[in-house]
Amino acid sequence: MTNLTSPLLPEMAEIWQQTLNWQPTALQRSQFQQLYELVLEGNRQLNLTRITEPQEFWEKHLWDSLRGIAPQRQFIPVLPEGGSVIDIGTGAGFPGIPIAIAFPNCKVTLLDSTRKKITFIETILTTLALTNIKTLIGRAEEIGQQSQHRKTYDIALIRAVGTPSVCAEYALPLVKQGGLAVIYRGNWTEDETTALQNAANQLGGVIESIEQFTTPLTNSIRHCLYLRKVVNTPVQFPRAIGIPTQNPL
Ligand code: SAM
Repeated sequence: MTNLTSPLLPEMAEIWQQTLNWQPTALQRSQFQQLYELVLEGNRQLNLTRITEPQEFWEKHLWDSLRGIAPQRQFIPVLPEGGSVIDIGTGAGFPGIPIAIAFPNCKVTLLDSTRKKITFIETILTTLALTNIKTLIGRAEEIGQQSQHRKTYDIALIRAVGTPSVCAEYALPLVKQGGLAVIYRGNWTEDETTALQNAANQLGGVIESIEQFTTPLTNSIRHCLYLRKVVNTPVQFPRAIGIPTQNPL
């Protein structure tokens, strides 16, 4: 099996430092390695990801996941010590699992509507002994209306799940007032900013910042959108299953 830690490890260690001002410990490196191997193995039965080459996996799944919570290369401001994070539509566990590995003190909930993906993730959690992750099967539209989840997370992360306004409608109800929704995107335009601002206003959020960056290996353009929840989300949001995508805000 292709080995992620060798021969890439020395150069990756430098890139982590240069780009995120952070270095994984030996344990974290080994957890990243195991995660890679388990995802490749899971891919044989489940359609988990098309990203399977080691460098691509490192850049698009590991690095990209962590970059979203490290604006301006600062981990701390967006992720309070011991804070709670929900990853909505986590798929094979991205961005949530790399974040849980990098921040063992934070509590990460991985939400997906597909049972078999969550079942697969549970095998990863056991193998990697990741005790700071919980899993949740369900639709964001329903989970966002449940009192045990609504307004309870410091940060909601959402990558590759829908349009920006759909992501905002899934994410903002779940974060506490003062909390943050982080939407991971590829390209971004000014028109999208206007549409997202309009959606965020209706959901009790504002666009705090939009960060553009390039990935370290392939120089691909990425954006992360940081929405701050300034007032409570009105009770009608998120709307019923399917409505956010059929009729986006
Ligand atoms: N976030 C992962 C990533 O970036 O690699 C996976 C993205 S995958 C393209 C989208 C995932 O979102 C799928 O696993 C799907 O089951 C889940 N999903 C889509 N709509 C959802 C919803 N309304 N609630 C919960 N999960 C949803």
